[in-house]
Amino acid sequence: MIDYFKELEILKKIKNYRKIMDRLSKQGSRIIIHNRELINFSSNDYLGLSNHPYLIKKVFSAIEKYGYGSSASRLLSGGTILSSKLEKAISKFKNTESALIFNTGYSANTGIIPALTNSETAIFSDELNHASIIDGCRLSKADKFIYIHKDISHLEKLIKDSNKKHKLIVTDSVFSMDGDIAPLKEIFEICKKYEALLYIDDAHATGVIGNGKGSLSHFNIKPEPWIIQMSTFSKALGSYGAFAAGADKIIKWLINTSRSLIYSTTLPPCIVAGNLAAIELISKDISLINKLWENRNKLYLALKNLGFDTMSSQTPIIPIKTGSVENTLKMSNYLYKKGIYAPAIRPPTVKEARIRFTVTSVHNDEDLEILIDALKKL
Ligand SMILES: *Cc1c(COP(=O)(O)O)cnc(C)c1O
Repeated sequence: MIDYFKELEILKKIKNYRKIMDRLSKQGSRIIIHNRELINFSSNDYLGLSNHPYLIKKVFSAIEKYGYGSSASRLLSGGTILSSKLEKAISKFKNTESALIFNTGYSANTGIIPALTNSETAIFSDELNHASIIDGCRLSKADKFIYIHKDISHLEKLIKDSNKKHKLIVTDSVFSMDGDIAPLKEIFEICKKYEALLYIDDAHATGVIGNGKGSLSHFNIKPEPWIIQMSTFSKALGSYGAFAAGADKIIKWLINTSRSLIYSTTLPPCIVAGNLAAIELISKDISLINKLWENRNKLYLALKNLGFDTMSSQTPIIPIKTGSVENTLKMSNYLYKKGIYAPAIRPPTVKEARIRFTVTSVHNDEDLEILIDALKKL
């Protein structure tokens, strides 16, 4: 057996030992951890939907009607009429022919990428793509090529050099640790030129950019039959689960071949109801999204004025560069003592250690001022 105790000691020594931090409160701008109230800059609940009364009402009424568990895969009896209703709402929202629900973003990426590719495919993946995309690529029989972050000429060179019959380009649209946005206009042109499929992970884009509709709307790109938009319900939509939206034939192919869909129990109906409510809410009303951006711009500007290196942030994900793992931990501990929760992000999650702030629509001016003041005194 591997000496796990020794391995853990090594992790501690290189300051990469991780601990789970459980809350005693709802998710939100203030959370309780270890019996202390902290201002929370670590959640992905960008619009505060995880506690929105409209979602909660819809969730309760779905439990009353359909019970709690789903108790089977979607291909058996796990789904309800709410599942297909949600898929219709997604395809309307993302402007595609069809859509399909997955259990999580992780299981969507690990189920879809292998299903879309075979041994005659070459996958081209941005080096900063999310771990679930990396794992999805690992499960695929395709050849894999990693291009330098957002580097279109490197991407094109790799594509030109590849002799595979099929091509798939995969990218996060908003990168989860840097908060920057993929150059989708250029990637779109490359896909057209080389007849490649485009797979976009909108986990941090849906509900955030493009008036909430995600990255294609942000860039004013019309959905095409060769574009698959994957996204999650677990970030700005405040809920749980994921989806793929695209051409009908691709969705039908995924229903027939995606292992994480076929061999896994589907989301409970109440979660599906919450997801549906979230889509309805942000389709109708973008005031929460406007508030999110107002807060984001306030914090971003303040950090810039204090001279922090916010790396390449373009979104409510704002990292600040700290130099070393040690500095990052020191800073995170300092903030913790000041009542602010902003965890350290370290290798192997990222190459360069950092503090990563996520700002939401439910932070108020006082929350932001306390953070800015603490950073001033650092
Ligand atoms: C969070 C995230 C996922 C995983 O989604 P879950 O629903 O949390 O499993 C996938 N891709 C990206 C880019 C993410 O940020």
